[in-house]
Amino acid sequence: MIEWNEQHLMLQDAVRKFVDTEIKPNLEELEHGDTPPYDVLRKMVRTFGIDAMQRMRFEKQIAREKALAASGDGAVAASEPPRKAVEGEGDTMGPALQLIPIIELCRYCPGMVTAMGVSAGLTSAAILSKGTIRQKEKWALPLLTLEKIGSWAITEPGSGSDAFGSMQSSAKRRGDGYVLNGSKTFITNGPYADTIVFICKLDEGNEPRERKILHFVLDRGMPGLVQSKPLRKMGMHSSPTGQLFLEDVFVERERLLGESEDAAGRGGRAGAKATFSMERSGVAAMALGIVSQCLELCTEYARTRVQFGRPIGEFQLIQAKLAKMEVARMNLQNLVFRQIELSAHGKGMSMAEASACKLYSAGAAVEVALEAVQLFGGNGYMAEYQVEQLARDAKVLQIYGGTDEIQISQIARSLLSH
Ligand SMILES: Cc1cc2nc3c(=O)[nH]c(=O)nc-3n(C[C@H](O)[C@H](O)[C@H](O)COP(=O)(O)OP(=O)(O)OC[C@H]3O[C@@H](n4cnc5c(N)ncnc54)[C@H](O)[C@@H]3O)c2cc1C
Repeated sequence: MIEWNEQHLMLQDAVRKFVDTEIKPNLEELEHGDTPPYDVLRKMVRTFGIDAMQRMRFEKQIAREKALAASGDGAVAASEPPRKAVEGEGDTMGPALQLIPIIELCRYCPGMVTAMGVSAGLTSAAILSKGTIRQKEKWALPLLTLEKIGSWAITEPGSGSDAFGSMQSSAKRRGDGYVLNGSKTFITNGPYADTIVFICKLDEGNEPRERKILHFVLDRGMPGLVQSKPLRKMGMHSSPTGQLFLEDVFVERERLLGESEDAAGRGGRAGAKATFSMERSGVAAMALGIVSQCLELCTEYARTRVQFGRPIGEFQLIQAKLAKMEVARMNLQNLVFRQIELSAHGKGMSMAEASACKLYSAGAAVEVALEAVQLFGGNGYMAEYQVEQLARDAKVLQIYGGTDEIQISQIARSLLSH
């Protein structure tokens, strides 16, 4: 894919109109008020048929899995069959339908994308990749359509980058089920989530570092589960972030993803890593939205802001900023095109490639947004000119989904292992 086609551009235009009518007028409330972003997001997925598309894909996948299960190959049925590579151009519309709204929303409200991505992306993907058919039907489908809101909870006060090594949250067997304890922090949608994927270690009295990693699905309101209020933070204000506290939460085995402690060898660390990879590759589209918006705002400002009797766009130091922003925009767009192309051919990025993609994209978004603040001078520091918000929002791209430092070590490890 080397450029957007007509269908993509029509979708882009339609999403821009939606943003103009539904998001821009409510931006102040979404960013600084008490209104969570979910109703607007639900309206968006309905307007563009994203919910219907997700439902259709889900039903096809489940039908395939049921057929495989009926044929007696249960092990295969538990996993999503690998998609076949498509000859020729491939269908780019499916992936574009997911990425174009991300890009366009990120021009104004990257927090909404974070809230949506964690719910319909990460949380549902964790259930889809490890759950049984019954678990998928019960919990994943309502997340995919945004009927329900989800959280994916791995980070704890004492375990972030070393997510598995330092994890304290525990599951102990009791009768036919488990008793869960622990606390999670920085959890996107945590305050409002209906469905939570809680990741913890099975405590069998063995060494903590050797314990199995288990994933449980929790519902809002379960006895012993407390969801905090939203935490105050630097940016991404339209994405509620909170803490989760579990005290002796009893769960039946049916809430253990895969309903097996070994989850056919697909649970545990490998499952969480696949989720990281997905989260990382999505950052390019977010960064593209932020960078494109900064560039547009800066170009217009450079044309119209006059100092020393000339538009500031005539100063070479300002031109250099615009040129670097355009280089970042082109690189990010190419990364997004690659992602669409891979997906259209039934492929995805490797963990190392997704890490490289995230490292570059997050850095580009932060650099461009901070330069945009600089280009706007004092106005750039004022909320009214929007680049201030984009700079605050961009920063978290270098932190969540694995920090820059962790991406670097994963890329290097992959290079050195060959
Ligand atoms: C807005 C927001 C939303 C989030 N949403 C979620 C969510 O939905 N679910 C969830 O589970 N988590 C979520 N997180 C948590 C996020 O993934 C973690 O904050 C992140 O992984 C970093 O962990 P930490 O904060 O504990 O930092 P730490 O791991 O304590 O890192 C501190 C510093 O040390 C560096 N460092 C650590 N280890 C190494 C190393 N080996 N080599 C070099 N440097 C190192 C880090 O890069 C960082 O600079 C969210 C965070 C934020 C800010």
